[in-house]
Amino acid sequence: MNIEGIISVSYIIATILFILALGGLSNQETARRGNWYGITGMAIALIATVLGVVTRNYEYLLAALVIGGTIGLIAARRVQMTQMPELVAILHSLVGVAAVAVGFANFMDPGRLTHYVGVELTIHDIETYLGILIGAVTFSGSVIAFGKLSGRIGGKPLTLPARHWLNLGLLIASIWFGYQFVVQSAAGGGTQELIIMTVIALLFGIHMVMAIGGADMPVVVSMLNSYSGWAASATGFMLGNDLLIVTGALVGSSGAILSYIMCRAMNRRFLAVIAGGFGTSEGTVVVSGEDQGEVDPILPEETAGLLLDAKEVMIIPGYGMAVAQAQHIVHEITQTLRDKGVNVRFGIHPVAGRMPGHMNVLLAEAKVPYDIVFEMDEVNDDFPNVDVSIIIGANDIVNPSALTDPDGPIGGMPVLECWKGKVSIVLKRSMATGYAGVQNPLFFLENTRMLFGDAKDTLDAVFKEI
Ligand code: NDP
Repeated sequence: MNIEGIISVSYIIATILFILALGGLSNQETARRGNWYGITGMAIALIATVLGVVTRNYEYLLAALVIGGTIGLIAARRVQMTQMPELVAILHSLVGVAAVAVGFANFMDPGRLTHYVGVELTIHDIETYLGILIGAVTFSGSVIAFGKLSGRIGGKPLTLPARHWLNLGLLIASIWFGYQFVVQSAAGGGTQELIIMTVIALLFGIHMVMAIGGADMPVVVSMLNSYSGWAASATGFMLGNDLLIVTGALVGSSGAILSYIMCRAMNRRFLAVIAGGFGTSEGTVVVSGEDQGEVDPILPEETAGLLLDAKEVMIIPGYGMAVAQAQHIVHEITQTLRDKGVNVRFGIHPVAGRMPGHMNVLLAEAKVPYDIVFEMDEVNDDFPNVDVSIIIGANDIVNPSALTDPDGPIGGMPVLECWKGKVSIVLKRSMATGYAGVQNPLFFLENTRMLFGDAKDTLDAVFKEI
């Protein structure tokens, strides 16, 4: 077999491994194996490309690999579990910037006008134009998403007047400059059009994500994930690399499916999310017009007593559990209660935390058995039989106003209806709001008790009593 044959076979094997990786990642029990398939596939893809496709300038390649690899290694070691969503967002932005860089390099390639003529040149130019467009939107959108997820930019949506017209204008301008670019490029020009479109695309990415309120961010994260896939796919077309096209399409379509799942989980229409405009700011204490009443605090000792007396306990983790790193102590409490005959289950909301699957990852890290971790739909009807619900650093996902106030920032989103159980104990540090910035009437209900403090500290104290 010649070298090209070996590369093709390696690429096919890598593609199969990527598909197996996606299959594996769809389930907690097989996720670890799925990760290994992905790692192996990527290693094969890299080796085949470095040894087979690259023919010269190895020193540059090596330098880039060393620099990129070192930065990646340091970032991966330093990143806290709570910063994972931001890391994912910033990694998406790198795919975008790579697509832009490859697009410009492709355009500036002196051999372009001799390699391609007629229709081929037109197709090549359209590929380049689209690759840069998708890449630039992905880049700037992901940078803003990074800012929002890390709290550097507020969660409040930016609602410019006539923003939909502005978006439409930007789209029409991109199409017009695209047409001009293809016409000019055949005559040796087109640079100006390409640069103007890049600026438009960057502005569009910023505007799109700035307009989306806190509560709708899960869809944005998965949508940018999808865009980064299409950007990689576009890069594959520009470089004539089949593996990159297929891999990008896999990421693009799985991200699109994830966006759909997140939209369904939040009962939102995709277009309504993209149109944006919901949500206020995380961490604010909303003073509502009418008095919500008093809250009823509880101490760790009494919490432990209620847990020991219970037959059915539901644990509802949220973003605060990730912040407090309380998953390990949660596991110990679970273990102890189960040993004492209490039926402990976990109810996981699809958008709990700050990234899809966030809670599942934390619970798996703490070695909580998978068979007691349930999705929202599997447990939501059981709450009337639940004696104690422990809500650990969760807020929006247990907010009854999602059901009672359809026009609110989280209106219409299905939530875990813990208030239907006997007692709900909410663990948080203050009366501050969650990510969507809305007050939570749950805290003021008669059968709700508030256990104030850092979730790890309060749970440590509860564990001592148990
Ligand atoms: P929320 O952000 O609604 O609430 C988290 C709560 O945790 C806060 O009210 C905070 O209250 C509390 N908290 C923070 N730190 C601690 C700590 N150390 N100890 C105890 N409590 C703490 O989280 P939810 O998980 O309920 O909901 C997720 C939200 O994030 C949804 O609005 C969702 O749309 C959004 N989102 C989800 C993404 C995803 O993909 N899953 C992505 C982006 C956004 P206090 O400050 O008083 O302690």
